[in-house]
Amino acid sequence: MPFISGKELLDKAWQNGYAVGAFSAHNAETIQAIVMAAEAEQAPVMIQVGQRAIQYMGLEPMKAMIDIFAKTATVPVCIHLDHSRQYEQTMQAIRLGFQSVMFDGSALPFADNAAITRKVVEASRALGVGSEGEIGKIGGTEDDITVAEEDAMITSVQEAIQFVDATDVDYLAVSIGTAHGIYKKTPKLAFGRLQEIAAAVRRPIVLHGGSDVPDDQIRQAVKLGVAKINVDTELRQSFTLGMLEVLNQDQEEYHLSVTLGRGREWTMRKVQEKIRVFGSAGKARDFV
Ligand SMILES: [Zn+2]
Repeated sequence: MPFISGKELLDKAWQNGYAVGAFSAHNAETIQAIVMAAEAEQAPVMIQVGQRAIQYMGLEPMKAMIDIFAKTATVPVCIHLDHSRQYEQTMQAIRLGFQSVMFDGSALPFADNAAITRKVVEASRALGVGSEGEIGKIGGTEDDITVAEEDAMITSVQEAIQFVDATDVDYLAVSIGTAHGIYKKTPKLAFGRLQEIAAAVRRPIVLHGGSDVPDDQIRQAVKLGVAKINVDTELRQSFTLGMLEVLNQDQEEYHLSVTLGRGREWTMRKVQEKIRVFGSAGKARDFV
């Protein structure tokens, strides 16, 4: 069985100076694309289930599909719940056998975020499941939540320390200048702040909004302690463009295996590209 705890996976990546891609899945084809890319690159990988996919497909069906498509993988795979804003949903994911969960209380007052995250950490740790928390608001639109640019704040070192002290979360998502979705102008990551936070909290840092960030900035962030990078938008884009390539040709037959298959192919290529930039290609061998 390739399934591995998010904590074990990210601790190893963090100690060895690379990042694991946390790629969002939305249907059978995107799950397959991620698994196939990870196999081709011999990379450990996280497959994440976000709120849109849950609304559209359901939490349990997504988990069951990932299990089916990933169970014969030869690389470590971790199934992760992304941006849960409900304690109950994180518990449901743990019951279903997710190996990693994120409770996102970043929209709540600090004390509430810390208190609920702490409860999630306690429950997941007892069961060997990795936990992610978030401090500081990440801009852009993810699922049904939009954070306006003026509300997106760079996480302060002080609040990161307080949050980790209060929760002992396994890995920490911070806001350092990335945003969810497509960028209007090229992002500039706050490397100085990242370095200070990483030195202060001494655990893997998670970068959200990893789509479309220039590769050199990604590599620099990984060097400074980012060990998990979320990618969703660019994969959805690739899937759609792959399908359009077929749909824009004159087609006599409407085989979904052709249109969806092309989407799967494009997504797989994009995931492979990201894995190489994150430095996790060939790292599956660290886990034997
Ligand atoms: Zn996110």
